[in-house]
This record gives sequence, C-alpha cells and structure tokens, in this order.
Amino acid sequence: MTSPATAQTAPIAFIDLAAQRARIGSRIDEAVLRVLASCRFINGPEVTAFEEKLAAFAGAKYAVSCSSGTDALALLLMAWGVKPGEAVFCPAFTFCATAEVVPYLGATPVFVDVKEDTFNMDPESLELAIQVAIAQGLEPRVVIPVDLFGQPADYDAILPIAEKYGLKVLCDTAQGFGGTWNNKRTGSIGDATATSFFPAKPLGAYGDGGAILTDDAELVAVLKSLREHGQGVDKYQNVRIGMTARLDTVQAAVLLEKLAIFEEEIAARERIALRYNALLRDVATVPVVDPRASSVWAQYTIRLAPGVRDGLADKLKAEGIPTAVYYRLPMHLQPAYRHYPAAGAILPVCEALAEEVISLPIHAYLDEATQDRIVDAVKRALAA
Ligand SMILES: *Cc1c(COP(=O)(O)O)cnc(C)c1O
Repeated sequence: MTSPATAQTAPIAFIDLAAQRARIGSRIDEAVLRVLASCRFINGPEVTAFEEKLAAFAGAKYAVSCSSGTDALALLLMAWGVKPGEAVFCPAFTFCATAEVVPYLGATPVFVDVKEDTFNMDPESLELAIQVAIAQGLEPRVVIPVDLFGQPADYDAILPIAEKYGLKVLCDTAQGFGGTWNNKRTGSIGDATATSFFPAKPLGAYGDGGAILTDDAELVAVLKSLREHGQGVDKYQNVRIGMTARLDTVQAAVLLEKLAIFEEEIAARERIALRYNALLRDVATVPVVDPRASSVWAQYTIRLAPGVRDGLADKLKAEGIPTAVYYRLPMHLQPAYRHYPAAGAILPVCEALAEEVISLPIHAYLDEATQDRIVDAVKRALAA
C-alpha cells in the first residue's frame, strides 16, 4: 500500500504515453510485428492506408505522409518554389520549426504578434508585417498561421488578408490536428496544412513523422516527387531537387492504430481541459477558445501575473508535478532569428506571454484524482 505522503509527491507524467499503451499497446505491438515480418520497411501498404484514413479524418482530398512536421512545412515551401526575396509570415509565439524552414529556401521569415485571448496569430499584426515586408523590398508570398496549443487560428480573418495580397496559406497544425474552425477540421483549411506525429503531439507516433493535407492534386504530385529525391516516372529519373522525407512503414502502422481511437481521445482531452478551467478560473487566466473553434488541447496553458510563473513551477516540481513553458523566448528575440523583420520594433503580446504562461500536465488519460492533486498544488502555491 502506498502511504498518503508518497502518493502526494509521486511523480506525475507531463504527457503519459504509457497510459495509452496500457489501452492499445498490444494492438500496436502486433501491427509493428506484422511490418517487421513483411520487411517492407519503406513504402509498405500501411503508409498508403494511413494516408487515406488521415485525409478522410481531416476532410481533405489528399494526405501526403512524410518524415516530420518540420519536413512537411519545408516540402510545401519547396513545392511552391519559395525563393530569396520573398517574405513568409509566421507568428513569433510558436515552436521554432514554423519559421526555421523559411531560410532553408533563402526566403525571409517576417514575425507577427499574437492575440491576447487565444495566443494565435493577430490579423492586425499580420497586416502590419506585410507592410514592413513590402517597405523592405520583399515580395509577400506565404503566411503560416499556427494552431497553437491545439486551437485553430482565426482563419475568418487571416484568409481574406491572404487573398488580398495573393499569399499562399500554409496552416501549421502540428499542435492542432483534429481541431475545428467553423466545424471544419484542420487539414481542410487554407491551401495546404502541415502536421506532426512527434510522440508528444495529440496524434503521435513512436518516433518522428508528419503529413501534408490538401485538396490540390497537382501539389500532391510535386510533394510525392520531392519526398523521394525529386523522382520522375520512376526512382531512377530525377526531375527536381528533392529530399528523403518519407514516413516509414512502422510509424504508419502505429499511427493507424492510434488514429482509430483519436476521436475519443480528443473528447477526453476536452473534458479534462474544461474541468481544469472550472477549477482554476478563480486563481489564473485560463485558456479561451474562440466560439468558432474547438481545440485538441495539445497543451493546457494558463497565464499568471508577471513574476509569478517560475516560483509556481519550482513549487510544483517539489511535489512531483512537472510543468513546461512554451515559449520562454519568442522567435523574433531568438539569437538565430532576431535579424529578421517583424511587424513592429516590439511584439508586445508575444513578449508578455513569454514571461507569464505555464503549461500543466494534460493528456487523454489524466484521471480526476491526479488532476485534483495538480489543481490543489497550483492553488496552494499561488495562495502562498
Ligand atoms: C512540433 C511542431 C512542429 C515540428 O514538428 P516535428 O515533427 O517535431 O518536426 C512544427 N510546428 C509546430 C507549431 C510544432 O509544435
């Protein structure tokens, strides 16, 4: 029997991947063993089967699987022929990969501020960033809205701006896959969508993986060529410079099993997040979801008064409760990126959030007792 003291400080997982294994681990192991026995490690039948199911899930015509979310973003910029002298607009409050792929093509990332309520790309700041890019002689080419922490960006506002300036819309739904905007799933919005199957994402593999979703058949043909060294009619004809960026068959087999229960897991995440909201509303700024959106809650992120966050993290850590800060330094202040343009001399919302947000443990299998322990510790720490 565990003593109450041990139970109160036993380490909690930030994202409990083992809990999901307890549910479908044996099915996944069998699927992986089937791939191992087939020896079709690359381009096995599971890859195509997964692409078909993924596209159907998202409501997109096509899914092109690939090696990671970062490669999904890069493949799209390559397929569109993005080049030096062109501007690609990215929120500054995101994971680095959103902007990292832009200099691969010699193009210029231009950083945009985010909204106070949803932490997603601010359409007014996007307009300013476009003017900054034009004033610097750059050609506005692509906007990459990010569905941060699981919530789709404000596509009602962003799509018309993109249309006005002739920008391609590349949705980065690495955190938001499965979420909806006006009842449309991410993957069926914009010109194309990139997503990630990194193990900690809501739909994660047992290694790296990613996918592109789109309705554009011509784009799909180019993407499939690019992910196989720019191949032409066959493997031995190269019609363009590509890369090796396939999803391997083992990961596709794992993802087929996980996709089968993903809808249920999204519902569980929603229930857990709303319960956090109800329990924490009085002590912190809890996440706001736009009424037009539904989130998959890749993160559960609260906002605190300036100066409180790091002390809270330390107190929780002492009780075995892990937290994370996404993101401590916005992109436009990162050493590798601070020479690129931004919508303004400062991006005030990104810079404030970087000091004030903290993410609590969330995953589809977080039980109420564990959640109560987390909530109780947060409340005691904030009251102290
Ligand atoms: C995780 C992530 C990526 C990159 O995905 P990988 O599969 O790790 O390459 C890109 N954008 C965002 C917003 C992410 O969170």
